[in-house]
Amino acid sequence: MYFSKNNNFPHGIMFHQFHDKKFYKSGEGSLSKDDFHDLINFVGKNNILDAETFFQKKIENKLKKNDVCLTFDDGLKCQIEVALQVLEDLNLKSFFFVSTSNFENKPDFFEITRYFKINYFDSSEKFYDLFFEVLDKDYNDFLKKNKQIIKDKIKVYPFYTKRDIEFRLIRDRFLNEQEYTNTITLMFNEKNYVVNEVVPKLFFSKSDLTSLDSLGHKIGLHSHSHVKFIERLPFKLQKMEYVNNQKNLSNILNKPSKKINSMSHPLGSYNESSLEILRSLNVSLGFRDNMSVNHKMKSINNSNLEIAREDHSLIMKKLKR
Ligand SMILES: [Zn+2]
Repeated sequence: MYFSKNNNFPHGIMFHQFHDKKFYKSGEGSLSKDDFHDLINFVGKNNILDAETFFQKKIENKLKKNDVCLTFDDGLKCQIEVALQVLEDLNLKSFFFVSTSNFENKPDFFEITRYFKINYFDSSEKFYDLFFEVLDKDYNDFLKKNKQIIKDKIKVYPFYTKRDIEFRLIRDRFLNEQEYTNTITLMFNEKNYVVNEVVPKLFFSKSDLTSLDSLGHKIGLHSHSHVKFIERLPFKLQKMEYVNNQKNLSNILNKPSKKINSMSHPLGSYNESSLEILRSLNVSLGFRDNMSVNHKMKSINNSNLEIAREDHSLIMKKLKR
């Protein structure tokens, strides 16, 4: 039974990666077609509302405790290749929240790197070996200084290895974005990884979006360039992110901007400015990326722009127990 006292309120179920036996290797919590079927059965198909129904009912405050919806983030092609057939077979219509810089030849670097890591190395260790080999900056002092932090993190995140944590620290706190991108790009070259060749297999095309739309799925915003912490951007830049995202989707789908009226916060990041911007763009439903109430919130679904979502990998854990 999926529902318990911890999740008996309307929420979304959040999906990212899927794998198959052909192009998409499994990794980091991805789902197969069978997993996806099992998950839907576990949640109960009757509890899953179509995206548009969930949207309307939430606005009218008519959702019941066990009403959930399915949401797909980041415009990942594997969602079309693996999950869409299941959705269509079961006649379930879902939300798809899509960043649009992918359509301008600026694909999300995180996804490109993720694919590289899974497909070009036998193990994470081998990926880190090459990373530290090509890294052109002395990081030993940095690691020494952060010895205690690394120890603490291993306790908090037992599923990470020491090297996972060292890599993340160096990526997030030691290198700036340009240095990190340069280092990874050196690795791409070393392994003859041609980004342009994999992009069409990793991300939606424009016609994927129009066909999802015509099948009755609901396409929503996810910021234009999937910035890391949108809440840290000044109002003006945040506004540009959402205005561009909405304008691009409106052009691709050939419908008025104000009809692109749902969204999910990229990496769960938002602040009061983000919410104000979204309201001004006629966005009336937005999803967070977790199921907890933080200190700034009064309740779990704090506003129609702050609806909770459960991560698919956490549901799989319950299912396999
Ligand atoms: Zn995302």
